[in-house]
Amino acid sequence: MISEKMKPLVQNNSAIREMFEEGKRLAAIYGRENVYDFSLGNPNVPAPAEVDQAIRAVLDEEESTFVHGYMSNSGYEDVRETIAQSLNRRFGTAFHQGNILMTVGAASGMNVILKTILNPGDQVIAFAPYFLEYGNYVRNYDGELVIVPPDTTDFQPDMEAFEARINEKTKAVIINTPNNPTGVVYSHETLCEIAGILEKKQKELGTAIVLLSDEPYRELAYDGVEVPYVTKYYANTVVCYSYSKSLSLPGERIGYLVIPDELKDSQTVFAAATIANRVLGCVNAPSLMQRVVKRCVDAKTDVAAYDRNRNLLYSSLKEYGFSCIRPQGAFYLFVKSPVEDEKAFCGVCKQHNILVVPGTSFACPGYVRISYCVSYEQIERSLPAFKAVAAYYGLC
Ligand code: PLP
Repeated sequence: MISEKMKPLVQNNSAIREMFEEGKRLAAIYGRENVYDFSLGNPNVPAPAEVDQAIRAVLDEEESTFVHGYMSNSGYEDVRETIAQSLNRRFGTAFHQGNILMTVGAASGMNVILKTILNPGDQVIAFAPYFLEYGNYVRNYDGELVIVPPDTTDFQPDMEAFEARINEKTKAVIINTPNNPTGVVYSHETLCEIAGILEKKQKELGTAIVLLSDEPYRELAYDGVEVPYVTKYYANTVVCYSYSKSLSLPGERIGYLVIPDELKDSQTVFAAATIANRVLGCVNAPSLMQRVVKRCVDAKTDVAAYDRNRNLLYSSLKEYGFSCIRPQGAFYLFVKSPVEDEKAFCGVCKQHNILVVPGTSFACPGYVRISYCVSYEQIERSLPAFKAVAAYYGLC
């Protein structure tokens, strides 16, 4: 009964389900506190107090039929204006409500914009390692994902390989900074270089190429590192933002797209994206959450908690002899497998009740992703197990 397009998705899904089942199986045998699940990107830091207060205030102060009603498919005008002004204050931009389209999180935002711009056969470039759903999102609209191989020295984009992959079929380039799974943040210089290459190629090919900046981790950066605002570098940029990580609201499904005036055919793209939001079945982003976001547009999650986790995990794994770059943002550590087959490494980790995700899931074999959006105590408890794995491989 299921479509040909769904069949590979169903097949691939079993790996994630297996990991989930394995976690449950191990917890039943050894107890939950003795299983170290680092597989999910589900924030463990609770939503800031402002969020709960805002939910109550919306219900107490705003009219029920308004709060729970339909609105424009692009979202409430006042919410979009508040977000635009907040971005302008923080990044010196000049957005207005006509640039902000409320979405059902980043996953939906990506689908909305890809549906809006892709024709069958169009290519979308992504830099490995990348969030594997990108391939599924692009294939939803019969596009083709083209992968720039990783530069494993620092996981910054390989500019030569990037430029070589741009051709007349290239419709978009996805960047994700701070990055899942490496924690890398693209600097001012990196963004200048990406923009320069795109400008040059647009001119050469006579096409328009959209730079799609997927930014669910924008607020999660450490050591004062700057996360530059991408629309300031390249006119044909669309930003895909989400509150899933920044306000710890992944189940609430709320985010937005920024479609700047500078984007080619900006108003037409905005109008088309609004329709895409509707016909994809989202209709509009969750109403209550839009009202809430308006009231806590400048609220912040407890980044210091993730920073503490990062420091403990990074310094401990380095001490045990593992090799990895120090993440500047997000809440992931991307660790080199001591053996080529990282799935075998994941298997050994599992024998020590540690669950991590193979790099193959991010188009980067030979590495594993460790999510440190878990309690500090889980990391502390897991350290002897990581040390035992290191000893197994003769690293310490
Ligand atoms: N993009 C990246 C890089 C992610 O890591 C995630 C979620 O983990 C998403 C998009 C989807 O986020 P959302 O919950 O906003 O749909």
